[in-house]
Amino acid sequence: MNTRMDFLLAWAQVGRGWAYRENEGVGIYTLPSFCAASGIDHGFSAKIGGVSKAPFAGLNLSFTNDDRAAVLENYRRFCRGAGIPPDSLVMDSYEHGTTVLRVDKKDRGRGHTRESLPPCDGLVTNDPAVTLITGHADCMAFYFYDPVKRAIGLCHAGWRGALGRIGGNVIQTMQREYGTDPRDLICGVGPSICPQCFEVGEDVCQQFEAAFPLCPLRGKNGKGNPTVDLWQVAACQFLEQGVRPERIELMGVCTRETANLYSYRREGRTGGMAAFLRLV
Ligand SMILES: [Zn+2]
Repeated sequence: MNTRMDFLLAWAQVGRGWAYRENEGVGIYTLPSFCAASGIDHGFSAKIGGVSKAPFAGLNLSFTNDDRAAVLENYRRFCRGAGIPPDSLVMDSYEHGTTVLRVDKKDRGRGHTRESLPPCDGLVTNDPAVTLITGHADCMAFYFYDPVKRAIGLCHAGWRGALGRIGGNVIQTMQREYGTDPRDLICGVGPSICPQCFEVGEDVCQQFEAAFPLCPLRGKNGKGNPTVDLWQVAACQFLEQGVRPERIELMGVCTRETANLYSYRREGRTGGMAAFLRLV
């Protein structure tokens, strides 16, 4: 991928799709391509069904600021509704950076019922005893599945992480740790702030343009302020590593515009959702 045309041709092949289900009062968003793949379970939580009080009201899965007992109860409900073994969770520690850690069964409970992991926004594993969890409010969740080497990766990509190519870093970590061939990967992006809603300062827009010169990522909103298409930024960093465009799927669901999702941009002080991915 060397020219803007290369990117645009690949971008046109990137899939869009999402599904939503409710179980035991818990809402879960999913990627159709990941649902169709065998050997994994994944999803992204919605706001409904929890015990947290305003301004976190609902199924808040972020321990930041909210009552810890309420969030733990929300996790109990989330695990029951999503069919996740509650003692299998390993959570990122959320540094808004690009660090990716390999985890396995000895890390179960880290960031949940045990001490946090060292600073990291990305996790990889090949251990079916582990459920990877990352936290989100408007930030992207990147999902990676290598069905050949039976390995998975999940990361939180805020704008700084996306700019720093944390997605590319997850893929490189999977290559190094598990021998993953990027052409075998399927990749997905969860609900997150959409290209029209992600208003930025001119300086931030220019940083993205400098880092991703092949992407026509700059837009303008109704107020005339610059916007950045983070979904292009996501796809671009997967494509750069050799992922096939038709194996990338974006949910295309905007957190700011969707009432049953928490959104930092819409609500300010608010709760968070969780992305999860596990081998089954
Ligand atoms: Zn939007």
